[in-house]
Amino acid sequence: MEREAFECTICGRCCFGMGKYVRVVGQMGPNNIAVRHELSNETCYVTIVKEYRDDFDLAEAMGIKSGWCPFLRESEDGTFPCAIYENRPKFCRDFTCCRMRVYSSDGIPVARVKSKSSVITDDEAFAEWWKKNAASYPGEGKEWEEGVTRLLASEGYRVVWYD
Ligand code: SF4
Ligand code: SF4
Repeated sequence: MEREAFECTICGRCCFGMGKYVRVVGQMGPNNIAVRHELSNETCYVTIVKEYRDDFDLAEAMGIKSGWCPFLRESEDGTFPCAIYENRPKFCRDFTCCRMRVYSSDGIPVARVKSKSSVITDDEAFAEWWKKNAASYPGEGKEWEEGVTRLLASEGYRVVWYD
């Protein structure tokens, strides 16, 4: 089975709704900000990456209670970087949004799979196929992964699992 280290594409999807959980709670120094992550109950001290410092408004960030994480930024290249990437909360560092990616035979991404029952895809036919075949494939863990990889290969898909 093809395995790779997880690579984040900086699409921002996992941070768009984190304003509810990532709270700016104070400032300890000019660039030292106290942050509370409500999902992991951690408090950490973060530094804004240099290029985003001028635009960071502490009062505005402290007022955010929903929507985007206060540290999420939008880049001109269409990606959504984190303004505290180097010292982001542990919850964010540990997070991986998928267990595997599925590609067509021409290398086009088809789906991101989080679990048997959680597949993110724009391809409705693939979503249906997954529900009928992969989600109900017996077994758990490695056994299920190997079986589903074989099923997908027989349909012409390439699969990359993440460690
Ligand atoms: S972890 Fe996943 S959802 Fe979050 S930005 Fe990276 S690729 Fe996108
Ligand atoms: S701190 Fe960074 S990685 Fe974590 S939710 Fe906010 S933008 Fe995303």
